[in-house]
Amino acid sequence: MSESKHKQNTIGLNSIAVHTGTIHDAFGGVNTPIQPSTAIEYLSSNGNIPYPRNFNIPNHEAVSKKIAALEGGESAIVLATGMSAIAAGILAIAKPGDHILMQNNIYGGTRAFVELLREKHNINVTLITSMTPDSLAQSVTNETVLVYLETPTNPLLEIIDIALITQWAKDNGILTMIDNTFASPVNQRPFELGCDIIMHSATKYMGGHSDLMAGALIGTAVYIEKCRKISAIYGMSLNAVDLSLLERSIKTIGVRVNQQNANALEIAEWLSKHPGIAKVHYPGLQSHPGHDIAKRQMSGFGGMMSFELAGNDMEYRNDFLQKLRMISVATSLGGVESTMTIPAQTSHNLLTSEERALLGITDMLIRFSVGIEDAQDIIHDLERALQ
Ligand SMILES: *Cc1c(COP(=O)(O)O)cnc(C)c1O
Repeated sequence: MSESKHKQNTIGLNSIAVHTGTIHDAFGGVNTPIQPSTAIEYLSSNGNIPYPRNFNIPNHEAVSKKIAALEGGESAIVLATGMSAIAAGILAIAKPGDHILMQNNIYGGTRAFVELLREKHNINVTLITSMTPDSLAQSVTNETVLVYLETPTNPLLEIIDIALITQWAKDNGILTMIDNTFASPVNQRPFELGCDIIMHSATKYMGGHSDLMAGALIGTAVYIEKCRKISAIYGMSLNAVDLSLLERSIKTIGVRVNQQNANALEIAEWLSKHPGIAKVHYPGLQSHPGHDIAKRQMSGFGGMMSFELAGNDMEYRNDFLQKLRMISVATSLGGVESTMTIPAQTSHNLLTSEERALLGITDMLIRFSVGIEDAQDIIHDLERALQ
């Protein structure tokens, strides 16, 4: 077996997506062969005992190299889910007594993990309403070891100025970690904006076909090795078949996400002119409060948006969703197919209506993951359902 000859970082993102990490098989096949064995000869392994749970099988090596190169990082690890990446990534940094600064409008699973950090690990987390150097300076302590970011946010697509936050963290000797799931490496390059660690739910845009779960962490080789040790103990590894599926899927991430960027921009503009729509949250729109920052730090505005139907009639909302034909009302995001969710029913269903209102999440808010279908067909589906 031999590695594809292309060197990382000297080639463009689409070439990395297709070639980097690929292990050609002995037969000359251009795809990394699936190696599902759990019993692997080890006498010549020099202490690095080959076992899938140790993250050292060929399918892990191939896809983790690809992901590291996509983000321009030194090393990467691919885990069973995005949540396992968040857990391992944070536990590799923080110990009992330490303190973390995090925004309050974080992904729901991450928010639940914060409770676990507090209760089981004695790691203190301050949730900040507005991520600015001033608000961070007000909450920082001598024990602060990490600033944890997520932008664009779910479901309102709020934008945080990454370079501003990482500069503040650097000045204060604190590490930064970002959840780059919504933007994907195609649209946002956090290492170039000063972040130390990047995390992905690879279930979303990296997988891209709504048929696998995975997570990824990208950082220095020393840091990723710490994550690997923790993840091996907790048993957070992904099996060879799904690693192979993920590797195959990432090859098209550039073409998929670019199509989603174009579709979403066209659809957001169309929705914002429709009388049945009260508000559209999409960073590509000039009316979006984070538009200028997004323009600076993103190369595309992404395939995620949310919008509020006019009025306050939940029957009308449900009727609208029922009438959709091509667009599915379904969990998750980032797939080739367009999907919608009602955040009040899904990601934020544990909050009261009043608590949601404080966050700006109304009952009429719909989150929209725009797929790669033809924009005109998506618009027709919306148009029919809005009548
Ligand atoms: C889905 C998601 C996660 C969690 O990933 P899983 O693969 O579902 O474990 C984390 N962050 C964001 C932004 C997500 O959308």
